[in-house]
Amino acid sequence: MISEYLPFALPDIGEEEINEVLDSLRSGWLTTGPKTKRFEEDFAAFTGTGTEAIAVNSATAGLHLALEAVGIGPGDEVITTPYTFTATAEVVRYFGADPVFVDIKPETFNIDPEQIEASITPRTKVIMPVHFAGLACDMDAILAIANKHGLKVVEDAAHALPTLYNGRLIGTLNSDATVYSFYATKTITTGEGGMIVTRDPEIAKRCRIMRLHGISRDAFDRYTSTKPAWHYEVVAPGCKYNMADLAASLGIHQLKKAWSFQKKREAMATHYDEFFSDLPIILPPKSLPGDTHAWHLYVIRLTEDAPVTRDRFIELMSEKGVGCSVHFIPLHLHPYWRDRYNLKSDDFPNALKAYESAVSLPLFTKMDEDDQQRVIDSVLEILG
Ligand SMILES: *Cc1c(COP(=O)(O)O)cnc(C)c1O
Repeated sequence: MISEYLPFALPDIGEEEINEVLDSLRSGWLTTGPKTKRFEEDFAAFTGTGTEAIAVNSATAGLHLALEAVGIGPGDEVITTPYTFTATAEVVRYFGADPVFVDIKPETFNIDPEQIEASITPRTKVIMPVHFAGLACDMDAILAIANKHGLKVVEDAAHALPTLYNGRLIGTLNSDATVYSFYATKTITTGEGGMIVTRDPEIAKRCRIMRLHGISRDAFDRYTSTKPAWHYEVVAPGCKYNMADLAASLGIHQLKKAWSFQKKREAMATHYDEFFSDLPIILPPKSLPGDTHAWHLYVIRLTEDAPVTRDRFIELMSEKGVGCSVHFIPLHLHPYWRDRYNLKSDDFPNALKAYESAVSLPLFTKMDEDDQQRVIDSVLEILG
């Protein structure tokens, strides 16, 4: 059992991760170096099929670099969902470009492809789908729209490691780039970190340059190449987005566990479902046959028959010692996005409705059976 209070999420760090960090500390190489290189190689082997993997210090950084690499500029439009974390849309603003929000499908919380097509203008450059909770978006439809209109696709896969779509791993579809997050609460973690995956060598090259000050070779090459160690060339005003070896040390071992973590999460989600089917709850959507859900989040929706409001439910769960969360407060309800684009709360009725009834229950691999039973008992006491 975790402790008196069961938090909403906890990382699952083993002795292998700890020893790898100690090894880096003892080696004297803390920043981008051999461990980051190995993590990238392992990651590219994991996604396979000719992919390159570029490690960065967050998914936000990765999304920023991916948009830069596909050529986003001022006045361009990027179509995305309001049902996401602000990072997805904020990186668009870094370029003076504009996110164009389109509503989600009420069943999946994922962007509605039909509404994407209706929102395309001559300024549209990119579609940015978000695989909410780890459930794949309708990528065939999204990629077909992108193809038809000559648009780029950058996938926000912060929740989607590992997610399968039509039997293929998210990250290996025909999009331009896919970005994963290794934030502390995500399915695998490096504390802070992210990975860009692409099959386009030009995008990969540009991201590698831009993640470290626009320097044309990264620090690892700089210190191991046969050219004079002091020599480097700046070819663009880049960013400081490189991953440190301390973080990559965690990532190397977390990645090896990605599928076993997924299996545990899936089993826990199924276990929740069994207890909740008779309650005033809409259970989380399941993946389609041939797909695999990463189960980053287990999001229930309270129905109108529930004896308590969503907010009260979370309070009562907390009083019973169980931490819950809400994913997400849709972007159009936040002051910045609302005021910048003059958005009304009912502009995205499906996102609004999902938000008003959604609760994310604890679902993480360090929970044992007793921990999960505590969550189940608390839910049954409040809603049963
Ligand atoms: C966590 C998250 C991000 C940002 O990830 P960081 O690694 O913290 O930058 C982006 N998009 C979504 C949907 C997320 O949940």
